[in-house]
Parts: sequence; C-alpha cells; structure tokens
Amino acid sequence: CGIIGAVGRGADTLDVLVHGLSKLEYRGYDSAGVALADESIDVCKKAGEIDELRAALEDRSIDGSVGVGHTRWSTHGPPTDENAHPHQDCSGDVAVVHNGIIENYQELRDELVSAGHTFRSDTDTEVVPHLVEEQLRGGADPEAAVRAAVSRLEGSYAVAVVIAGIEEIFAARNDSPLVLGIDDGAPRGPDRPNGDKPRGGAYYLASDVPAFRDHTDRVVYLDDGEFTVLGSDGWRVTTLAGEPVEKTVDTVDWDP
Ligand code: GLU
Repeated sequence: CGIIGAVGRGADTLDVLVHGLSKLEYRGYDSAGVALADESIDVCKKAGEIDELRAALEDRSIDGSVGVGHTRWSTHGPPTDENAHPHQDCSGDVAVVHNGIIENYQELRDELVSAGHTFRSDTDTEVVPHLVEEQLRGGADPEAAVRAAVSRLEGSYAVAVVIAGIEEIFAARNDSPLVLGIDDGAPRGPDRPNGDKPRGGAYYLASDVPAFRDHTDRVVYLDDGEFTVLGSDGWRVTTLAGEPVEKTVDTVDWDP
C-alpha cells in the first residue's frame, strides 16, 4: 500500500528505496519489493515484513541508478513472493509497482494472454507491464508506451514504471495518492555558500511525503488524471493525454 521511487541518487538508490519503504510501514502491508534499472532490471521481492526483503537483499547484489519500491496490501491474489510487486513483463525489461485496484484487469489479461503473454502472478497489477511491453513491441517510445498502457486502465491506481536502459521513472495516478519530491541540487541555505557547485538533481515519488522527507522538503502533489516523468535532469507533469500541466512546488514545514 505504498510506493517509493528515486532517480538521480546513483549508488545510493537501493538504500533510499528501502528506507522509504520503512517510512511507509504505517500504511500497512503484507509484502515488499524493489526494482533497480540500468541496462537491465533487477527485482527483489518478498512476502512478509521489510526485514524479510532486507535479508533477501543481503544474499544478492542488485544495482541500478533508477528504482521503485512497493509495500503491498493484497487485493487480488494471496501475499506470496510471486504476487509481491514490482511486476515485470515477459522480457523482464519493464517493472511496475501499483497501489489500488484495476477493475478491468480480467478483460485485459485475457487479451494479453491471447496475444502470447505469460503471467506469473494472480494480481490485477501484472497486466500493466505486459501492456507496456505490447506498446514497446509495436514501436512506441517508452513514454508513449506507458501513457498508452495506463490509458487502458479502469479503476484506482498510483502506478510507477521503470524500463531497462531508460534513466527515467514514469508514473500516473487516479484515485490513489502520489507526490513528487524535488531536490534540484542548487545551492540554498546557510550551509551551502554561494559558489558551491550544484550537484545533480535527485527526484523522488511516493504515496506519502515521509518516504522521502529525509532527502528533500520540496513537494509536488499529483492530481487525478496526471502523468509524470522524472529524470536525473528534471521532472514534468502532463495530463495522461500529454497536455502540459502547471504545478506548484510546495515546501513542507515539518521536520523529518
Ligand atoms: N491490487 C494490487 C494487488 O493486489 C495492489 C494492492 C496495493 O495497493 O498494495 O497486488
């Protein structure tokens, strides 16, 4: 029942994701997982507590500079390792985390199975990576592929997608919360004297601010029907159809 994503944190990405998940524990969950992307995608996911995920992560090395994490509150399929998020497509090049319920998943799943896709979980969520894969196979660019996939969904969702070889996170929401965390890296505040060289930006997304509040206090709340792209060089928000949306960056006034 929680999502965290991070781009621009380089080698820290995995730690940022697991820390973010621990900050979302209060929302309740039965499974947890992460996906890290660079030229390929590594996924680690476990039923049970975040400590089970931490233990599983100790047994293997996974890395990547863009990532998403998830705590699951099962609605479709029991809490098993396979049903935990992130979910992947057949090629393994797309990974998706989702909060909410996709009402028309059965119809989408039937269509995708007829088109040759193999499903590995009982979840409603797994239709999403396969829909993205179908679009990519048809020649769509990554952003267009995710837009088209999300446009097929009916129901409630906060959904975040990473794709192998793409240093970006794509996300959208409908009836389920999603907030961006903005750290442009520009010098500001007394501890960063003028002339400090700005480091590159880092950008976050989460179902709630505590997930990234230790890294930034600047936030952008997404509204229903909005779509966002976060890259290491910036962020933007549009409608699902691609019309630009003006968003304001708020500063949260509470401490981490
Ligand atoms: N419906 C999805 C599932 O059962 C997502 C549940 C959630 O919001 O965590 O896996």
